[in-house]
Amino acid sequence: MADDSEVLIVGAGLSGAVLARELAQTGVRVQVIEARDHVAGNCHTERDPETGVLVHVYGPHIFHTADAGVWAYVNRFARFRPYRHRVMAQSGGRVYSLPLNLLTINQVFGRTFNPDEARAFLAAEADTSIDAPLNFEDQALKLMGRRLYETFFKGYTQKQWGCDPRDLPSAILKRLPVRFSYDDSYFAHPFQGMPEDGYTAMVRAILDHPRIRLSLNTPFAPPMAARADHVFWTGPLDAWFGHDMGRLGYRTLDFERFTAAGDWQGCAVMNYCDVDVPWTRITEHKHFAPWEQHDGSVLYRERSRAAGAADVPYYPIRLVTEKALLRRYVERARTETGVSFLGRLGTYRYLDMDVTIREAIDCAQAWLDARRGGRQAAAFTVNPL
Ligand code: UDP
Repeated sequence: MADDSEVLIVGAGLSGAVLARELAQTGVRVQVIEARDHVAGNCHTERDPETGVLVHVYGPHIFHTADAGVWAYVNRFARFRPYRHRVMAQSGGRVYSLPLNLLTINQVFGRTFNPDEARAFLAAEADTSIDAPLNFEDQALKLMGRRLYETFFKGYTQKQWGCDPRDLPSAILKRLPVRFSYDDSYFAHPFQGMPEDGYTAMVRAILDHPRIRLSLNTPFAPPMAARADHVFWTGPLDAWFGHDMGRLGYRTLDFERFTAAGDWQGCAVMNYCDVDVPWTRITEHKHFAPWEQHDGSVLYRERSRAAGAADVPYYPIRLVTEKALLRRYVERARTETGVSFLGRLGTYRYLDMDVTIREAIDCAQAWLDARRGGRQAAAFTVNPL
């Protein structure tokens, strides 16, 4: 079934690509424009010409989900290889296992606790005076006590977010579990893996449909919107409005690339938790593809800082000031017609890839339902606030 409408999708990252595919498959003609010279947004992967290593150009991306539908979806477009993400952490000149697990607890305290003993020990370490932790630090002190917090979280979080952990929401810490077993898998989700040929090949496959036209190196210009039946905006929410009420703050990352022979650090990601080490982590990309063989190695030393206007936005900051500004942009966006906002940048949220895909599928469905019912599509299918 084909029809005459043509929609415009701004951005060929995961959100834009999945949305384009979902719409194209129901007969809608879709134009996707992308300002960069590649698809896949910040999960873009590229083979390093010198070593042949597949590099996560904008930093580590590991696919993990509990959503069987999303897992089936990505497996339609890429061959996934089994991959379990493990992270090591350096603190005070020693190496530990993350996320916090029984080995980490025994290493830090020099003990041989079993699960129940460790649970009892941490319960005594924890700050029980904190009832309802409202910020990152309180959440950590309540969960793990001061020693573990200061060993792994305080310095890293200051470097990563550029602020006092007491100013950050507790939700950021909730990304990481504390385990009373020797399970050191970074993620607990039942479906985990890496696309064999990288994320960019997967996103290209998603976009490979006769009703999708893709233009790279094509920044958005307002006359394009006038020609489309509907615009789906996956760029920064405030950029749609020309940032005219101010800029929503992001952290950006700087990667210092270096190469080595053989195996430089023995794992994909090593975190550096001390505040006096200027980088947050070092990524050795070849360990994301353990089924490949390479003599050389490519590494990224990663630092975080406040994003300027010309920088690539990574993490939305969402502190009190940003949330107040976000509210104003969201209220304004809700009064717009002919445009919908989605994705990490369009909704200014810290999103994992699986959630991004689920929301893009839902956004396509909501738009198709609205059109079938003769209604205006909503500006957002999720609430960004
Ligand atoms: N974090 C930390 N120390 C670590 C790892 C993580 O303090 O060694 C904190 C930090 O605030 C970080 C958050 O936990 O932003 C979430 O970590 P995650 O590994 O999920 O971050 P991502 O890989 O998405 O950057």
